[in-house]
Amino acid sequence: MTEQKKNITDLTLKELQQAMALLGEPSFRATQIHQWLFSHQAASFDAMTILSLALRKKLSETFSIHQLEQVDHQESFEETCESPTEKILLKLSDQNLVESVLIASENRMTACVSSQIGCPLQCPFCATGRMGFRRNLSAGEITGQIYALNQMLALREPGKTITNIVFMGMGEPLLNTDNVIEAIENLSTRNYNFCLSQKKITISTVGVIPEIQRLGQSGMKTKLAVSLHSADQQKRESIMPIAARQYPLKELGKSLCEYTSATGMPVTIVYLLLKGINDSLDDAKMLAKFAKTFLCKINLIDYNSIINIKFKPVYSTTRDMFQEYLMNSGLYVTVRKSYGATINAACGQLATAGIQNPQ
Ligand code: SF4
Repeated sequence: MTEQKKNITDLTLKELQQAMALLGEPSFRATQIHQWLFSHQAASFDAMTILSLALRKKLSETFSIHQLEQVDHQESFEETCESPTEKILLKLSDQNLVESVLIASENRMTACVSSQIGCPLQCPFCATGRMGFRRNLSAGEITGQIYALNQMLALREPGKTITNIVFMGMGEPLLNTDNVIEAIENLSTRNYNFCLSQKKITISTVGVIPEIQRLGQSGMKTKLAVSLHSADQQKRESIMPIAARQYPLKELGKSLCEYTSATGMPVTIVYLLLKGINDSLDDAKMLAKFAKTFLCKINLIDYNSIINIKFKPVYSTTRDMFQEYLMNSGLYVTVRKSYGATINAACGQLATAGIQNPQ
């Protein structure tokens, strides 16, 4: 069996420098290759015309450049939005599949990207969680999603590009932090053709405490969103058992206080409203008490139903009362519009298990 070549877009700049040393090349070649990969998004070593033929040959013998292949594309048209929400199914080099979503709104083109195939946290309301966990995505596979979406946009309308990224696709990004950070650094490298400010990138987590602490100390400028869904420990355990037990509310609150003090940046508390479960006035009171201890804003989300899952969305009147209570408590509260529900592209609906991932 032939050994699979390493995907070069998975390498950090430091690893590229080490690889060049092994090939007997000077260190600056690593910088040039990095530019070709992440600024010019070169699809082959032959495209790297600044390199000698001999080096291009050596590189292609050692590495591959794996670009993600689009295997499906669906659109969902919303009444309130001129452009459709799009769900794109991408194939990885090992034939596994991931889903990414493009959401157009006002002047933004937001890419919702995946960080894992499946998810080990298995929140019962989430389609990805019900897939089980296959593996982490590599840094190259994460950037590959953005490049695939950008390519699709540019072909359709030259100059059109992604303006924001949210790690809210399949998986828990802070259980794959090294690769997520590496991908973000490559996507936000200054002066590259595609360079996104880290402030336009949101990492959404269920609250992986040690990794929140790490992010807080990292100097990264990315935004942080935390899926809380209940400010009552017992209730949270019933909604998201694994995550809530591993990362208890009390410690989570403390880590968010430390994070906001260290970064000066607010955290977005994401609260999925589930009918009859976490939507009472008492729930709103507990949420207000929890959220007042650190710099944050609250984002309420309507649940998007998934077939065979018992959870149900709340009535809009319940959501309005919940929001009003929080706002009257002095909190900043928004209601997130949900896009893509009809194509299972909305929050919590992404799953490729039923499609065809290899076992
Ligand atoms: S909600 Fe997030 S953390 Fe929970 S199972 Fe789904 S992807 Fe994983």
